[in-house]
Amino acid sequence: MANAVYAALPTTIFAVMSGLAREHEAINLGQGFPDQPGPEAIRRAAAEAVLNGDNQYPPMGGVPELRAAVARHYARFQGLELDWASEVTVTSGATEALACAFLALIEPGDEVVLFAPLYDAYAPMVRRAGGTPVIVRLEPPHWRFDRAALEAAFSPRTRLVALNTPLNPTATLCPDEDLALLAEFCVRFDTVAVCDEVWEQVVFDGAVHRPLMGFPGMRERTVKIGSAGKMFALTGWKVGFLIAAPPLTQVLAKAHQFLTFTTPPNLQSAVAFGLANSDAWFETMPGELAASRDHLAGALRREGFATLPSQGTYFLNVDLAASGVTEDDKSFCLRAVKEAGVAAIPVSAFYETDPVTSIARLCFAKRGQTLEEGARRLARARDLSIAYKAG
Ligand code: PMP
Ligand code: GLN
Repeated sequence: MANAVYAALPTTIFAVMSGLAREHEAINLGQGFPDQPGPEAIRRAAAEAVLNGDNQYPPMGGVPELRAAVARHYARFQGLELDWASEVTVTSGATEALACAFLALIEPGDEVVLFAPLYDAYAPMVRRAGGTPVIVRLEPPHWRFDRAALEAAFSPRTRLVALNTPLNPTATLCPDEDLALLAEFCVRFDTVAVCDEVWEQVVFDGAVHRPLMGFPGMRERTVKIGSAGKMFALTGWKVGFLIAAPPLTQVLAKAHQFLTFTTPPNLQSAVAFGLANSDAWFETMPGELAASRDHLAGALRREGFATLPSQGTYFLNVDLAASGVTEDDKSFCLRAVKEAGVAAIPVSAFYETDPVTSIARLCFAKRGQTLEEGARRLARARDLSIAYKAG
């Protein structure tokens, strides 16, 4: 009656937790989205484009003005030289870009190396495309892979590897040394890297995002994915970018043409405007988010919680076991949203097998008061959990 991959699939943890947060009128520090409206000039550009711009089908690969702006952006921030006409495709969010990459590049029976914790869309998409996920398990506190792990995972059947950096949910950046190691394996096994870099602009404390595409041997074998939703804190916008050398772009376009074909032209124009006019935004946004991160970390520390470092993304992780919580992350997060009025995401949801079960992910892209109240409620959840165990 139904495809087995989807029939067996649970509803994504983000929808589950946001649904519970609404039902219990909880503070939602689960799903990653800011509580601010996003840059006004860009929203005005979108409104203007809806009223006076073109609202018919744009070109399939995206509005030229946006594709050129994307190429300029990556040249400036990441030193990549891209030909916008043959190497940049606009998609309906990074999610569609991921689907394009997996559908266009996987042949049934291919192996696809993934790293867990993994963004929950990857493994089901890979399976639906006929691939077999081979999962490398990463662990706190460093969440790094090493040569032995890659030796065990890669084989002559490895068609793709998917890398997410900065990594959601761990909030870590893949170090240059590890990127170089992965590039070495991609070249050795003739593997294409699908790089989910949606958080590339959201990095803190002077850290620099390095695209795998820039490493030796990777220019022709990387599909780089970006998201305007993350760049401009407009997560509902769903304007994504697929960057790849022309032979890859040509086949990715075949997937894109029958997934969505195009992405709303007004939003594309507004993102093009944003990329051309947002020097100040890119200067200040990371610092403001880092201040929110520190605000939440401070509030949690005062409540006796231990946190892990956050180098990028909207997320800060709490080490539950080191914070006096004795139940696993999933039970604790369900208790927190239902009984204490605060939603978080259990990191075990990002593993298919052998999960790390003692970490909860919190989104700090919120007002200070919300963060403080969230921390208080999380402490209340811990008290309830301890009382439950004792009772
Ligand atoms: N990949 C990762 C790692 C993400 O965190 C997200 C969304 N937060 C996406 C992909 C999806 O991005 P989009 O909303 O542009 O589809
Ligand atoms: N990427 C967002 C997060 O990690 C959620 C996106 C979604 O809900 N699919 O919270």
